[in-house]
Amino acid sequence: MIPVKAHWEVPLMRTAGRLLAEAIAEVRAHVAVGVTPRELDRIFEQAIAARGARSAFKGYDTGAGPFPATICASRNEQVVHGIPDDRPLNDGDLISLDFGLEYGGYFADSAFSMGVGTVTPKVQRLLDITEKSLYKAISLAVPGARIGDLGHSVQSLCESEGFGVVRDLVGHGIGRRMHEPPSVPNFGKRGTGVPLKPGVCLAIEPMITMGDYRTRTLKDGWTVVTTDGSFAAHFEHTVLITENGPEILTAPLR
Ligand code: MG
Ligand code: MG
Repeated sequence: MIPVKAHWEVPLMRTAGRLLAEAIAEVRAHVAVGVTPRELDRIFEQAIAARGARSAFKGYDTGAGPFPATICASRNEQVVHGIPDDRPLNDGDLISLDFGLEYGGYFADSAFSMGVGTVTPKVQRLLDITEKSLYKAISLAVPGARIGDLGHSVQSLCESEGFGVVRDLVGHGIGRRMHEPPSVPNFGKRGTGVPLKPGVCLAIEPMITMGDYRTRTLKDGWTVVTTDGSFAAHFEHTVLITENGPEILTAPLR
């Protein structure tokens, strides 16, 4: 069974999502050549502390030991789960930043990738298509749709561009825990998987590579990289399925 949010839980999920979007906007404004991922981590930590929230990532342990930072910062061939360090961002880097918080017992999860300074046209294409694949999948997250519809959509768009779709990591349900059922793969068949209904909340997160889709984890136990060294991009939103369609709880502030 996939968890369905009760009527009274929806405002709490909305608040968690909005606070996360606000904090992400603060970090995003600071991404530039010469800035270090550790500086971005501090900005996020302060931004959520000021809002009474806590990082969902710091201390998270999957067996590799507690994650040491409040954000994940993954550069170039790093796909996800990179640990923020003191190496300044360079012109031409692709940086993927992933953020999660808990507020009042509810979780929100969102990520974006961007080019630092000037990136090559191919890297920009990877960024554009990965983001587009997220929004396309979100548009399909309506009552009656199946989980496989979302993955099929991401996979067909990204593979038609010659990009790779990461298989080892997937999106997930989210709510009172950071990771809840169901799994939300970025690949699959239309009309398969669990059906969506109002109150289901998903973290949808395409992870797309410029080359082969295979990944491996570095010795730090966290950082996931492409095996062929090709660049990767990652975009994510926390999305609530409602009677009226998808509601992006972590929608960027306008
Ligand atoms: Mg995330
Ligand atoms: Mg996630």
